[in-house]
Amino acid sequence: MPKPKQIYLSALNYAALNTQSQAGREVGCKEVYQDIEEFEKRCQQTLKTDRPVLAVNSGTAAIHLGLLLAGITAGDHVICQSMTFVASVNPVLYIGAIPVFVDSERQTWNMDPERLEEAFLDLVRNDKRPKAIILTSIYGMPYDYGRIFAFAKANNLTIIDDSAEALGSSYKDLSNGTLGDFGIISFNNNKIISTTGGGLLICPDAASYERGKFLATQAKENEPFYQHKEIGFNYRMGHLNAMMGLSQIPLLSERITMRKQMHNFYQDSFQPISGISVHTAPDDDFKSNYWLSAILVDPSEAGGVTKEDLRLALEAEDIESRPIWKPMHLQPLYSTYAYYGGTVCEELFEKGLCLPSGSNVTAIDRKRIELAIKNVLKY
Ligand SMILES: *Cc1c(COP(=O)(O)O)cnc(C)c1O
Repeated sequence: MPKPKQIYLSALNYAALNTQSQAGREVGCKEVYQDIEEFEKRCQQTLKTDRPVLAVNSGTAAIHLGLLLAGITAGDHVICQSMTFVASVNPVLYIGAIPVFVDSERQTWNMDPERLEEAFLDLVRNDKRPKAIILTSIYGMPYDYGRIFAFAKANNLTIIDDSAEALGSSYKDLSNGTLGDFGIISFNNNKIISTTGGGLLICPDAASYERGKFLATQAKENEPFYQHKEIGFNYRMGHLNAMMGLSQIPLLSERITMRKQMHNFYQDSFQPISGISVHTAPDDDFKSNYWLSAILVDPSEAGGVTKEDLRLALEAEDIESRPIWKPMHLQPLYSTYAYYGGTVCEELFEKGLCLPSGSNVTAIDRKRIELAIKNVLKY
């Protein structure tokens, strides 16, 4: 006799949604987790890593878990890149730890290794030895991993690799997300592939994966009843998000190709114009997915045109552009925390603009963008 069908405590019913794989299938919690684990496996392959990958419900949650797994507790110091999105840093405050900000270097716009070393030594001198660094690959551009890694290893610093924007990027053929001890990928709506909301935590080993999963699912102890000894979170990726992720992964390489085409388009378009430079990988060690194309507008060389003039001119033509991330040490939320560096990231912010980079920008759209730019820069 065939085994009778499993009766669930509370089966999920996706009938109304009629998703491809769920049509006509009754799903219990076990099957849900099988699909999420399948997504994790596919992500692992995409990242070309053997390290365990935990699917969670946002990149922010992944950073929070990464910090917890790195043993960061209240009062600890964590070195952060000032030039980043706020979600990079907020989890430091969730824990009650203390962010310390570091300036960028001009090539990648990411953390300046020299400033990092300076910050570290100064903190150590003041009895505030930091335990971790959060490094961001902004707009998909990898940071100077080689140099930072050597310093971090020598000084027992855990690297949290915030590659939320950099799925498909790499440094010396190491995938972003696998640089460092813990890696983060985001699948938020605006990222290169999306699950409408979601993230990954790339873990150093199986034990931290299991611990991460435990914390992400309310820290329920392994008992048939509900037993809890510590605070957990509701951070695991949702089932439908994982299903969507499975359908998105095959699209990644094409998306990257299209993003790179946009980057090349801007490089070609701006080439004859003085005062405009396109954010570009310094050499072949750095492979960006070019999630967003960004430029610097130097008014002193661009006939007085500022990035804001350009933004408004594009807006008048219904073309969206946006200033690059405002550095964290300039944010009201973070202005009281220490900052090490000069004015590089401030200058980048003053001159930096992100341009339309979507994978769906057509040849006609490009012509419109080019024309609008030509009109304001008069070339
Ligand atoms: C998007 C993003 C995050 C947060 O990811 P979510 O999935 O939106 O929570 C973190 N860091 C950076 C640099 C990001 O761009």
